[in-house]
Amino acid sequence: MTDKAPIHQLPLPRRTLQSSLPRLKLDDKPSAQRRSTTFAASTPGIWARVYPMWTAWPLRITKSEVEEMGVNVDAGEQVDVEDVLRRWDVEDSSWQSSGESSRNGLQLRTSKHRAKLEGHLIGVSPMALRDSLPHLDVGDASEVCNDGAEPMDESTAEGSCRKALADVISGRQVLVSRKGKEPAQDEDEDKGPPSSDYGPWSTRYCGHQFGQWAGQLGDGRAISLFETESEHGGRQEVQLKGGGRTPFSRQADGLAVMRSGVREYLGCEAIAALGIPTTRSLALMTTPDLPVIREYGPEPPSLLARLAPTFIRLGHFEALKPGPAAHNLRHIFLGGGWQDESEEGDGPLDGQGNLESLRDLTEWCKYIMGFEGKSTVDWVGDVIKRNAEMVAQWQVYGFMHGVLNSDNISIMGLTIDYGPYAFMDIWDEGHICNHSDPTGLYSYKRQPERVLFDLDKFVSAISPLIGYEKEHGQAQAGWSEGKTKEDVKDWTEAAEEVMSSWKENYRTTVKDTERQGWLKRFGLRTYQPSDDRDIIADFLVLLHAHSLDFHTSFRHLCSFLVSQNSNEAYVKSFLTRWLELSGPTLPQDSTESAQKALRPWLDVYTTRVLADAEVQAWSQNHENDPNTPETNASWQQLREKAMKKVNPRFVLRQWVLEEVISDIEKAGLEDLVSARKSLARVLDLATNPFEEWDDTCSEEGVKRAELCGVGKKEMLGFQCSCSS
Ligand code: AMP
Ligand code: MG
Repeated sequence: MTDKAPIHQLPLPRRTLQSSLPRLKLDDKPSAQRRSTTFAASTPGIWARVYPMWTAWPLRITKSEVEEMGVNVDAGEQVDVEDVLRRWDVEDSSWQSSGESSRNGLQLRTSKHRAKLEGHLIGVSPMALRDSLPHLDVGDASEVCNDGAEPMDESTAEGSCRKALADVISGRQVLVSRKGKEPAQDEDEDKGPPSSDYGPWSTRYCGHQFGQWAGQLGDGRAISLFETESEHGGRQEVQLKGGGRTPFSRQADGLAVMRSGVREYLGCEAIAALGIPTTRSLALMTTPDLPVIREYGPEPPSLLARLAPTFIRLGHFEALKPGPAAHNLRHIFLGGGWQDESEEGDGPLDGQGNLESLRDLTEWCKYIMGFEGKSTVDWVGDVIKRNAEMVAQWQVYGFMHGVLNSDNISIMGLTIDYGPYAFMDIWDEGHICNHSDPTGLYSYKRQPERVLFDLDKFVSAISPLIGYEKEHGQAQAGWSEGKTKEDVKDWTEAAEEVMSSWKENYRTTVKDTERQGWLKRFGLRTYQPSDDRDIIADFLVLLHAHSLDFHTSFRHLCSFLVSQNSNEAYVKSFLTRWLELSGPTLPQDSTESAQKALRPWLDVYTTRVLADAEVQAWSQNHENDPNTPETNASWQQLREKAMKKVNPRFVLRQWVLEEVISDIEKAGLEDLVSARKSLARVLDLATNPFEEWDDTCSEEGVKRAELCGVGKKEMLGFQCSCSS
């Protein structure tokens, strides 16, 4: 286990994004970092230097601030917006170095103005720390946020580590390489040759939104701070969401409201606890004096620090090789002028994007995903497989993402960008969780097909490279030099052959992964072809027909004693409880008909569970499992236990999210302790969803048991439109 270090001293990985991919050049003026800038597809690179700037946009400035800048407004002097912005610039002469030099070759820098920023931690996820950043020392941050502990003085080791965390992820202090030094990638800090500067960045991507080419979209509100690596947590990138404008923000402010921060903070930790690949939440923060203006007026801000080995999305590839939809599209952008995205022209490769950068990005992703030196087509297969597995697991857990645009699909198959997502309440495969999706393009049942659509755009973008490799082996830098559109066309055609069965593979992976997931939830270790209909589909149809809750039904099924299926009194009470658990979902007069309908399914299920092969599969495993302490437990008891490990007792439902958001908003900064308490409670439930949570002997236990419930009727199937 690596030694723990405070955030600013975490080691950088062997290779960084910045040393692997070309940088997008912006004008030197500070406003260039904040001005909407659309890059042509032929521009090399996907990232630009951007410092977090947690402030309102359009910029607002008070008279006293102007005066502090030495401008005499009363005498008619004017203030230059570049000077206003320069106050955040860490390269400005007013910056103060913390003086600390560390093994990673990075340094904390700020400016007089930046240092005034007051960020407050309201949540830190212990599970994300455990899984992704086990080498990060957050001091007492977790105890303060999750256990109501009094913050320790900043002169103590615990207090100073917590402060460093808050300073870095609020952007109050910025981690950059020491001038003239290459950031050290190993223990020997002075080894690197002087040159490059490492610091926060934002990336450029395009994408298809709701099925349409939408051009350059982002990243308008994500700023990455640094990358690190540890033995157990692997490679991780630390990224802020809601940290202010970037050159890719288009018209928006780059900020995030509290409700969206809370939803993402809890959402990804809940998804991770269900064993579904996702980005992770490190911490959630807020600050006073920064109302974020939205549709209904000012709202409190949030800033989320999130983690992933990489945040590269399918849309990054589309930015470097846009499809035919981009051709002849002219795009207006703030800052002036029109830009022809595809740049269709007479040059040999005009309209073909930037093939060199496409290769660089591919090689970078291959490196991160363990495909260095391997063929691109194998890696593309992995991207497809990971996304197929991800969406299949969403289906099994009734998770709806809500905005399956190609810019919201991770190259690693991680669930990313939690906006109007929801977990299924009453089973309805047509459910649409996003209020802004009237036609249901991203409804539950269409998710696999929509992810396939997005992957199709990715496959098209990467096709020239695949076709080239088929004919010439792995592409080296300069592979497209001296080539023409005709060559690209040939490679693309060659790729079609190589990739001819990818859609079929995708569908098979989705189907197989889903089936495995469903069987697990039903506690079945063997598979019979009739299960798809008799066990899985029929069960779901019954839930829908009788307005039964999806998750409580599964959880209740864990305790069903198949040995008692012929005991009518037992079955009756089992069914009664089942319907009770669905609470307000069930129409009052339908109890009897629901029971009648469920009864035959229980018979089928019992027969299936008691099939020889099935019993044998459980008994064998029981006998062979040296880790099973309950030597006296029957295979049925073990089966119940195993089922409860895959069927959550707690589900992060809409009503729970709304309640915790309202608690935090009400508590505000005056009562951070109760805001943190409410958030920490739900985080604890969400990250331990399979626990019983049935201790009703304490007030806290009662509250938690309540949070495991289906909630009020009016909140069932609640549609959220908040992605901002
Ligand atoms: P979404 O549909 O939420 O994935 O948003 C698409 C893109 O819009 C994001 O990737 C951002 O680049 C941009 N965006 C959304 N909200 C904001 C915001 N508040 N400020 C700046 N950009 C935003
Ligand atoms: Mg997004």
